[in-house]
Amino acid sequence: MSEPLMDYDEAMERYDPVLGLEVHVELSTATKMFCACSNQFGDEPNTNTCPVCLGLPGALPVVNGSAVEAAIRIGLALNCQIAQWCRFARKNYFYPDMTKNFQTSQYDEPIAFDGSVEVELDGRPFAVPIERAHMEEDAGKLTHFGLSGRIQDADYSLIDYNRAGTPLIEIVTKPVFGAGADAPRVARAYVAMLRDLMKALGVSDVRMEQGSLRCDANVSLMPKGSVELGTRTETKNVNSLRSIERALTYEIRRQAAVLASGGKVRQETRHWHEEGFTSPGRSKEEAEDYRYFPEPDLPPVAPSREWVEQLRATLPEPPAERRKRLAAEWGFSALEMRDVVNADALDLVAETVEAGAGPQAARKWWMTDLARRANEAGVELAEVGVSPAQVAQLQELVEEGVVNDSLARKVLDGVVAGEGDPRQVVEARGLAVVSNDAVLEEAVEKAVAANADAAQKVRDGKQQAMGAIIGAVMRELGGKADAAKVRELIVKRL
Ligand code: ADP
Ligand code: MG
Ligand code: ZN
Repeated sequence: MSEPLMDYDEAMERYDPVLGLEVHVELSTATKMFCACSNQFGDEPNTNTCPVCLGLPGALPVVNGSAVEAAIRIGLALNCQIAQWCRFARKNYFYPDMTKNFQTSQYDEPIAFDGSVEVELDGRPFAVPIERAHMEEDAGKLTHFGLSGRIQDADYSLIDYNRAGTPLIEIVTKPVFGAGADAPRVARAYVAMLRDLMKALGVSDVRMEQGSLRCDANVSLMPKGSVELGTRTETKNVNSLRSIERALTYEIRRQAAVLASGGKVRQETRHWHEEGFTSPGRSKEEAEDYRYFPEPDLPPVAPSREWVEQLRATLPEPPAERRKRLAAEWGFSALEMRDVVNADALDLVAETVEAGAGPQAARKWWMTDLARRANEAGVELAEVGVSPAQVAQLQELVEEGVVNDSLARKVLDGVVAGEGDPRQVVEARGLAVVSNDAVLEEAVEKAVAANADAAQKVRDGKQQAMGAIIGAVMRELGGKADAAKVRELIVKRL
């Protein structure tokens, strides 16, 4: 399945990658883009539909004001210009996911354009230029039943029109130059930044695994020293941050191999496979194939400057300022902060601190134990199966002395396995530290008897010998003894 690939470092010696990122954000408005149907994810198929979003003849759309408001706030947060006047456009195509045979979108008159945002990579800022952010509607969802779940070998397909008409904002970058070998990581950091920004704006629940934030990743290569853009490929619907980085790395290596062998990169869409490769999709259609024309059934959108300024006042703190403020509040060193940001753990640490944990403790959990678990499972940190509130509760248990560090890790096993909150897991698995004097004294007694040599050494003042006795007590009590108390009891006993 895999095509010839060039070694990444060699590819970087010979070519400069250029990125183009198209991100779709599903807005979490109460109703759909052009009708009053509920915009709820996960309802019974085809229950949130009406003549408008089913495209019945004669049904007329009405623009959702909350969606326009969200679009403007997103545009402002991306430092874009907001159009004085803009229209919707029909993007014509025939496919059963869109009953009208066109998608209502925006074409040459986007509501927001010409912006720029900064992402942080290894503690350094990198500017990503924004071409436009425009409004459109989502299509219905097709599910193909057959061998592979793809249409090619499907026995039949089912359609759910609940998603048809969901408000979407598409955010498109200008070609991103100058990232060099970091290009895949820049793309990942950019999408992570957008996700955090959308969350802070409160306009979307940005769940990549549910498709409420999706990325099409374009990349092309320029031979070093060239100033002419190469031919790009567009890898569609990459639905995790990790996959964005992996898919782009793969495409760069593949295109480099094509170019180095004297071939031409075909302009096409590609599919990402989690096994670690992309495969060709359709060769790219041109804009004129869609016969775009202004939507006659909707009035233009002309946001007043007063409204735009009112909305500007509702913007959240810009990400770079927030990072600076949090680093100061938490007392993190530049290096600690950089690692947290690189690991995409900033919001997780922030939520853990909000839930009551100390910043350093919160950082430690996410950056060590939980990072290792995410890594082993090949998932994002946020999907490791432990919430910030649960981490805060676990830290509370450690500080109360209910569990020690090694027991805390067993508690996490239980939380990840879906056994409930840390306190419930401690209860159910019997993981609390044993600090009952009678139980500990009995174990100490036994351990001293079984380690007479060590006991004599301790009496002779050799403190190091105590380790053997503490170890024996721990073994006796399954690692659950309160170590400080055990030490005290041994001293008393000897
Ligand atoms: P399409 O409709 O084909 O998806 P868009 O204009 O919506 O086209 O998006 C294309 C994306 O790719 C944009 O982010 C654009 O800046 C970027 N892009 C355009 N040309 C190139 C190129 N040669 N190499 C890399 N990215 C490119
Ligand atoms: Mg596109
Ligand atoms: Zn509807």
